[in-house]
Amino acid sequence: MILDDFVSFDEKGLYCKYGDFYIDPQLPVKTAVISHAHADHAISGNNNVYCTRATASIMQLRYDRTAAKVFNIAAFNQPFEVGRVTVTLIPAGHMLGSAQILMEYDGARYLYTGDYKLQPDATCEPIEWVTTDVLITESTFANPAVIHPDPVSEIRKINDIKSNILLGAYALGKSQRLINLITEHAPQKKILVHHKIMPINAIYEKMGFPPGKYQIYGRKLMKVQDEFVYIVPPFTFDSYIRATGVKRLFASGWKNLQVNNQDTLFISDHVDWNDILQTIANTKPKQVWTLHGKGEYLKAYFKDDIFVKILN
Ligand SMILES: [Zn+2]
Ligand SMILES: [Zn+2]
Repeated sequence: MILDDFVSFDEKGLYCKYGDFYIDPQLPVKTAVISHAHADHAISGNNNVYCTRATASIMQLRYDRTAAKVFNIAAFNQPFEVGRVTVTLIPAGHMLGSAQILMEYDGARYLYTGDYKLQPDATCEPIEWVTTDVLITESTFANPAVIHPDPVSEIRKINDIKSNILLGAYALGKSQRLINLITEHAPQKKILVHHKIMPINAIYEKMGFPPGKYQIYGRKLMKVQDEFVYIVPPFTFDSYIRATGVKRLFASGWKNLQVNNQDTLFISDHVDWNDILQTIANTKPKQVWTLHGKGEYLKAYFKDDIFVKILN
């Protein structure tokens, strides 16, 4: 039986009272199940954290001793109990170690997607499919107007740019995916990375997902035009606003994060409208609960076919 109150939001985040745990809490809690290491999902200071090994490694890098009191490392597809709920982490394809959280209780299955993507990405475990009674999906881009272009044709655009490139990207996940895409599809480019990205690359390498060919940025490099692509986190990117002799690009699924209307690089690590419909077809839910975005379009689209509840 599907329980309407299986999970609900309170001031600390999304709470499952049947297992007495939070999913990706926003404030420190006693017990947390964490989908992936991005900072809006994985905060420091929780007591008891259940997550994948890669998520724990990245949290330890970021937060050091405050990362968690106890990490309970879960392998993908290996069920474990939290309170009265059976939890299984399923690859989400969003970044290294990212997991969907399957929760089983009282004969019903609830699948929390976390952030996820369907596009191929050699820098993380590909998404895997399980069926569910309730799909609890992020809906960042759950709008029929949002269709992400093919990332390979997007990255190939940089082959036409002969000047050095300053490429803004989030340090965790996106930077490694870009290194991989450039290594594969623009191999003549020389990739330089900001020092803040290096320790994350090291974790990817240790976990068996080397991003590609790159070197750490140094001041003397890029003095000449030599097809350099310098990958920097958003803060550094913004501080180089008046940089000369470089083409500035920012890689994101968001229109408003692009440099301007001409210089775009639409590479997203989230599902678009078609991907969400594909996910619903693959997971066969009886109900869809939405969070992180707009659920209205899905509600209208599925009208009488699937019950859609907007969680926030
Ligand atoms: Zn994320
Ligand atoms: Zn997120």
